[in-house]
Amino acid sequence: MKPVRGVNPGDADQLVAALVAGRAPNLDEAITVWYAEPAAGEREITVDQTNRSVVVGERAVVKWLLHTDPAGHPAPARLQALVDAGFTAMPRPWGLLHQRNTQSGALQLTAIVTEYLPGTQDGWEWAVEDVRAHVRGAESGALSAPIELGVITAQMHLAFARTGVDTATAAQVHEWCATAESDLAEALELIDGAEGQRLRALATRIEKALRPLAGCVGTPLIDVHGDLHIGQWLRTAKPSAYSVIDFDGNPLQSALKRMQRQPAARDVAGMLASLDHVGRVVIYRTPGVDAAAVAAWIAVAQEMFLMTYRGELSKGRAAYLLDERLLGAFLVQQECREFVYSVRHLPHWRYVPDAALPALLDRLETPA
Ligand code: ADP
Ligand code: MG
Repeated sequence: MKPVRGVNPGDADQLVAALVAGRAPNLDEAITVWYAEPAAGEREITVDQTNRSVVVGERAVVKWLLHTDPAGHPAPARLQALVDAGFTAMPRPWGLLHQRNTQSGALQLTAIVTEYLPGTQDGWEWAVEDVRAHVRGAESGALSAPIELGVITAQMHLAFARTGVDTATAAQVHEWCATAESDLAEALELIDGAEGQRLRALATRIEKALRPLAGCVGTPLIDVHGDLHIGQWLRTAKPSAYSVIDFDGNPLQSALKRMQRQPAARDVAGMLASLDHVGRVVIYRTPGVDAAAVAAWIAVAQEMFLMTYRGELSKGRAAYLLDERLLGAFLVQQECREFVYSVRHLPHWRYVPDAALPALLDRLETPA
């Protein structure tokens, strides 16, 4: 179904007014309301994004989904679980708009409304600035951010786990292995030039790192964020506070896949990989930077994230949710996906996995 909502001026204002009134704007629509207050006046968010987000009265963000799918959407259940658990490290959810599909008659998610957080930056900005400052010897959040994000990520997972924990079947594990292998095959096929040569030289080591996946039948599965990386964390200036956004799941996967429960290690690997990538961006884009100091920060940041993540899970008596055997394989798979992503969407990005992957394999192959 072609989305017809959100394209006209006034649609976002009207939706916020509908949340306040507690009544859907049209007969073929339904709303969910968690919170609402009067706000009006539309302004588009213009940064690089997958959907179309409109700020209303500087109070709310209406995200119009540009690819709605009759199979469903992961965000409503994720947001409900976080609201129920009293999780506050996110922009406060206001509500949802569903539209009736004209063919199937089923309700389909059309828009997500959340609190607007003014004066925030996303992690691709604040973390890069933090690390630049850190290696210059200046005060920054470079060491405190991974600690806080580890804690909050675990709290998010504990909230998700309260809605249910499944275990991976043999068929699911078989599919993870097949997907990881095809991600590698795709990267090998698509990456040419010097990066391609370096990648091909690593293929045997990559395959070996993916092998532990096969042994993970029975590993716990929960609802996850599904697309967790440093860019999904907004930070307010002072005092700095972190908020996680975007519960749409991995935009490269089908709606059905995005709604499936996954190992907590999927989000953890997403965060660990992106901490590494922040470092690669700093090294690549900062003339005269001390690359060894940045590499040292990557290792410390990842260790601190993991340590506080594990600690918080343990406090919730749920340490078992993180299956450590999956981390190395998911990290390696993530780098293969970064290569593929660079070819499809962001050509200059390929330097990032090109630098991250050999360092990652070295680390995984070093006995602890
Ligand atoms: P998309 O799925 O289209 O990428 P996101 O939900 O990730 O949309 O949001 C895109 C960008 O919009 C974010 O990177 C951030 O800069 C901004 N943004 C999103 N939500 C908020 C919010 N609640 N407050 C302030 N800025 C936001
Ligand atoms: Mg996003």
